[in-house]
Amino acid sequence: MPLSFDTTYKELDPKLYSRVKPKDVDDPTVVLLNDRLCDDLGLAEEELPARVLSGQELLEEPIAQAYAGHQFGRYTVLGDGRAMLLGEHVHDSSRYDVQLKGAGRTPYSRRGDGSATVSSMLREYVYSYAMESLGVKTSRSLGVIETGEAVRRRRTEPGAILVRVMESHIRYGTFQYVASQVPEELEGFADYVIDRHYPHLSDTDRKYVDFFEEVMRSSIGMVVDWMRVGFIHGVMNTDNMSVTGETFDYGPCAFMNYYDEDAVFSSVDKRGRYAFGNQKSMLQWNLARFAESLRPLFEGAPHEFDELRATLDGFEETFDRKYYSMMREKLGIGADGGRETINTVLDWLRESGADYTNTFIELETPGSFADPVYSSEGFRRVREEVADVGLDRETMRKANPRYIPRNYLVERALNEFLEGNGLSELDRLLEVLENPYESNDTNSRFQRPPPEAFDAEYTTYCNT
Ligand code: AMP
Ligand code: MG
Repeated sequence: MPLSFDTTYKELDPKLYSRVKPKDVDDPTVVLLNDRLCDDLGLAEEELPARVLSGQELLEEPIAQAYAGHQFGRYTVLGDGRAMLLGEHVHDSSRYDVQLKGAGRTPYSRRGDGSATVSSMLREYVYSYAMESLGVKTSRSLGVIETGEAVRRRRTEPGAILVRVMESHIRYGTFQYVASQVPEELEGFADYVIDRHYPHLSDTDRKYVDFFEEVMRSSIGMVVDWMRVGFIHGVMNTDNMSVTGETFDYGPCAFMNYYDEDAVFSSVDKRGRYAFGNQKSMLQWNLARFAESLRPLFEGAPHEFDELRATLDGFEETFDRKYYSMMREKLGIGADGGRETINTVLDWLRESGADYTNTFIELETPGSFADPVYSSEGFRRVREEVADVGLDRETMRKANPRYIPRNYLVERALNEFLEGNGLSELDRLLEVLENPYESNDTNSRFQRPPPEAFDAEYTTYCNT
């Protein structure tokens, strides 16, 4: 089946978007196409030629969405500066945004060129592919298409377009935009979003409180999953927080190797605002901004807004409940409780700076890794304590990946491609990442953490 669009977003107030046209690309070439995603969308690969995937053959007029956001704490009015929604594709009664990233300038581009480099689009492809396989709710990448142009960043590189697929690209920041720029549309917009993403709430008598609660619940689920696999998003601005709890905007993200709650790799995050261990409090802060944008919906019913505020006040408890339940699974602890044991493990990780991913495999099957940190007295004691209450292997295997996209492996594969050596390294990596829980490998080259010096120097960038 080919793409078929039914774009409801265009029925909203025109102040919420701009009609746009992708830039001309004379000779687009498909670098990667995601066959798993094609299947999930009911699309036949041969019906997705490069000219369609690069926006050269259009089914309807694309749009760029307007939104706002708190970027590193400061409020700004923004919009898709290098993204264009091709349309909403409906398959098996699910609706998906199909969006191009890097297809040219839009009215919201500010000083940006609207383009993207092939390495950053391949990088987003790999991370989103891995996150999907890891069972973390995420945007997905349908394909990467080279445009033939040269894009100037820190180094000049071939340009590319990524085709990104999400349930929708509606974010906390879209509500902030509507509340501040088009306040008369707030109620209609909220109803649209509820109807589209949380339809079971449409008829409840306190639907906006319930909506907030659901968004909080999905976002907590998402961030707890990030903590489970050691993911650092890197730029948790409110414009990058989806209302459906989908991880998206894979810019300066990274996976943690050596356990460090202060780990941050982004070049612009000098103060560690979005460090691994801050993601919980940053989510809470973002939800408070989201709550503010919903406030006008409660003008006639202030007591309901109090209920919303009470939900937000319960954030810490709700998050911790979910977090400790996830950590119990990582340690194979069946019953409730176990918080002390979990904290012992975290203390040890903090002190030893051991590899986060491999530690849980080593707890499950001692002797998996030759790393001397696992022969230490400290680790032996920790394992004994966990063994008293947990180490149920079946539970552990579902929660602890064997493989994550380790940053240095991704960079190496991207460099191979940029140096003209093709996709074989990247393909091998994607193959391993397709089934991250299933392998019995230990000490495979895809499981090895990088030399510590690599992580100390590793820097990721926005807008690449
Ligand atoms: P991000 O940091 O990716 O969330 O982007 C923040 C804002 O900058 C969004 O409005 C983006 O669309 C915009 N932006 C990022 N890179 C570019 C670019 N190369 N050209 C135009 N706009 C961009
Ligand atoms: Mg963004």
